[in-house]
Amino acid sequence: MNYRHGYHAGNFADVIKHIALVAILRHLRKKDAPFAVIDTHAGRGLYDLRDSASRATGEAEGGIARLAGLAAEEAMGTYLDLVSECGARYPGSPLIAAKLLRPQDRLTAIEKHPEEAAILKDVLAPFHNATAEAGDGYARLIKLLPPPSRRGLILIDPPFEAADEYEVLARTLAAAVRKFATGIYEVWYPIKSQGAADAFIGEALAGGIAKALTVEIGLTPSSDRMTRAGLLVVNPPYGFTEQMQRAAVLLAPRLGGVAGGAPADIRITWRAGSQ
Ligand code: SAM
Repeated sequence: MNYRHGYHAGNFADVIKHIALVAILRHLRKKDAPFAVIDTHAGRGLYDLRDSASRATGEAEGGIARLAGLAAEEAMGTYLDLVSECGARYPGSPLIAAKLLRPQDRLTAIEKHPEEAAILKDVLAPFHNATAEAGDGYARLIKLLPPPSRRGLILIDPPFEAADEYEVLARTLAAAVRKFATGIYEVWYPIKSQGAADAFIGEALAGGIAKALTVEIGLTPSSDRMTRAGLLVVNPPYGFTEQMQRAAVLLAPRLGGVAGGAPADIRITWRAGSQ
């Protein structure tokens, strides 16, 4: 386990993943009925963008820093407000989720790395309806489903360190959907090749998922760093595609388009069913 999200926090992939997360949580908040959030690969929850890890890669400079001063509405507006509340630090997925919980909602955030899990525990301590767990997010997820509220969001955001991560992820998603078919799932994946990503999506959906779309983002390659990533969203809420499309119009020229480069290529594609 060498991966540390501190090197990547606030990069272009985090920006789009966290705007989608906020869009789904804003949807769940529309009804008074409680909802559950399970974040299987939570990270530490809060990242200092001035520390040596962040400065070593400069990835936040190509992500959240490009959105400085931007006025936005809907999920993107809420996301930018949450980020600016953190000052020079960047909120990870569990902190974003915790801040959007109402008293009746619950968050379980799981992190395997002991040091990250210890920091996560402190970051979530002020939120009485949020729990940080140290452990394996895949195994815990299956045990936690279905949540008592029978409404909720599962975020699966693995580090893709293991060669078989696509397979484990597809298997876990299928098992999770068997236990909680009506849940909303947001799954992050890197796109090293479009063929491998499409094969993963085909495998993930083969277990009988009826409604799913992907949001994929690609930057014009300027280095050997990851420049393409996607989100597989199972059971996306009504209006999610339109909201992400409106966000994409604002994001594309800012996340791409540097030094005369092309805007970021952001594509929203239904992979199973439709709205
Ligand atoms: N979701 C976080 C966010 O958006 O702020 C970022 C998570 S980062 C991409 C992946 C995290 O998963 C790392 O902190 C890593 O230590 C952790 N991890 C790796 N394997 C895990 C596992 N099997 N279960 C839970 N966490 C794991």
